[in-house]
Amino acid sequence: MAIYLKRAAHYYPGRALPIDLAVVHCTISPNRRGGAAGVANYFASPTSAGSTQWVFDDYDAVRCVADEDTCWGAFGHNSNGLHYELCGYADWTRAQWLEHRPTILATARQMAADMRKYGIPYQYPALHINGRARNGIHTHNGLPGNDHSDPAPGPSGNGEFPMDVLLKEIRKGLGIVHRVTVTPGRVAKADRVKRERIGILIRSAAGSEVRGRGWKKCAAILRHLDTMDHEIRPGTTVNIMWQGHLWRSTDIGNQKILKVVHSIYTRFAD
Ligand SMILES: [Zn+2]
Repeated sequence: MAIYLKRAAHYYPGRALPIDLAVVHCTISPNRRGGAAGVANYFASPTSAGSTQWVFDDYDAVRCVADEDTCWGAFGHNSNGLHYELCGYADWTRAQWLEHRPTILATARQMAADMRKYGIPYQYPALHINGRARNGIHTHNGLPGNDHSDPAPGPSGNGEFPMDVLLKEIRKGLGIVHRVTVTPGRVAKADRVKRERIGILIRSAAGSEVRGRGWKKCAAILRHLDTMDHEIRPGTTVNIMWQGHLWRSTDIGNQKILKVVHSIYTRFAD
């Protein structure tokens, strides 16, 4: 896939907020050779009313706005967002989108690289905080305060964008192991003793609590957190006590506590 540069006519230099959001769009135009360039040319014309950081088709990627600058991608979500256009139509079926896997793969690869670079957490949908999407991945369609249909994550009445395929490729790019497979009986006897010394306390913002001591009770909680890594919401605190250590999400953050969860779970599950 070739990468071209075509600067958009409309963007604001600099950013008012740190980057913490990756937004997926589709162009509502054909995906063919020259498709992305056509959209980029439109963004470059003074009469255009929008711009994004990137446009992808099955053959090329075009950079239109620098990450450091604020594109005109989606109302209320430009100053904290990176915006990615996939050539295609909002009302495409899943099968129609999957005919354009190169576009989905190239977008996912770029998104994963950017998420790593800017520390955008792997979380879909992103959180909605005070009417703004933060800390994760979103579609333009799903952004609060927006009435756009691009792309509609399916199946829905107006399109079937295969968000699951895009997310899977992003996870690959980020090196996130999402499903844990374990072999029964693998855990050594010494580790069986060690893993009993675990305690977990989860408290939601609303004040409800889940707590457990010992492996059997904690394993179910860990497994849930490990496979549903967007489940920890703001205001939720997770404390893990194990072998004289205490990890608190309030101290180390949700992404780090999930790493702790994952390493304990994969080491000791059977
Ligand atoms: Zn859009």
